[in-house]
Amino acid sequence: MTEPTTRLLSLGAGVQSSACLLLAAQGRIPRFDAAVFSDTGWEPRAVYRHLHRLTGIARAAGIPVVRVAGGDIRSDALDPEHRFASMPLFTLGPNGERGMARRQCTSEYKIKPIKAEVRRRLGYPHPIRVPAGVRADVAIGISLDEIGRARDSDVRYMRHVFPLLDLRWRREDCVAFLAEHGLGDTPRSSCIGCPFHDDGFWADLKARSPGEWADAVAFDGAIRHGSARANAEGQPLRGRYYLHAQRVPLDQVVLRPRARRSPEDTPGCGPFTCPHPGEADQVPPEPTDARPTTAGRRVA
Ligand code: SF4
Repeated sequence: MTEPTTRLLSLGAGVQSSACLLLAAQGRIPRFDAAVFSDTGWEPRAVYRHLHRLTGIARAAGIPVVRVAGGDIRSDALDPEHRFASMPLFTLGPNGERGMARRQCTSEYKIKPIKAEVRRRLGYPHPIRVPAGVRADVAIGISLDEIGRARDSDVRYMRHVFPLLDLRWRREDCVAFLAEHGLGDTPRSSCIGCPFHDDGFWADLKARSPGEWADAVAFDGAIRHGSARANAEGQPLRGRYYLHAQRVPLDQVVLRPRARRSPEDTPGCGPFTCPHPGEADQVPPEPTDARPTTAGRRVA
């Protein structure tokens, strides 16, 4: 196999990818040419604060942190002019049928922008064909306890590599390592209004961050009858959308935070590490070379 042209880190800014960045900054694993953070625009403030300090640590080690985006997931969903990249919202049909909307958001807002950045760095932005043999190594922060999530890339110009698996590190090793270096409070990365949050997250948000809680409550109400675009086009949802599985307005949910058996009870949303069922099926393969794409603008 040919040598990679560039070595990048997919930086979700959660525990595992933060540990990878710190390891590289300390020279304990091969360095990255850049760490790429795919910003949905709706992460909690704690994540942006953490990203800011990571950026400083990485910069001091000569590793740029690059922010890319496919849009702003919250405002796009509420924009009648914008296509709605479906979130995994809970649905209640007109006859009480319970279901879940198809998830396209991780692909649209996280994976596609990273692929666009990889192509740009390789010198073959979409729709230019990437020649055979040209590829980037993209490190994914997956620890030994979640090895089942390690997947090969679905495009030949990217090869996924897994530094934490090479080190045989588990999540607790990452947490201890981050704590040793003053990053013990590394938050989980996911959108404020992600329907995958458990009651522990919602209760915490409500108690500690009333502004972000109010933001999620407002969004929950705004998408009740479907996306803004569908409503503007006179095609409201036949049923209703909800952020919470109880399928009542978020501020009326009886939150029942349960003791967490393990940190993996409440996983974050890494671009390539999604633990939720169905994700692999829902990320459409990237077009081979010639179709237009909407994702992948650099934001910083
Ligand atoms: S955190 Fe949730 S809403 Fe945000 S991109 Fe991931 S799955 Fe979608």
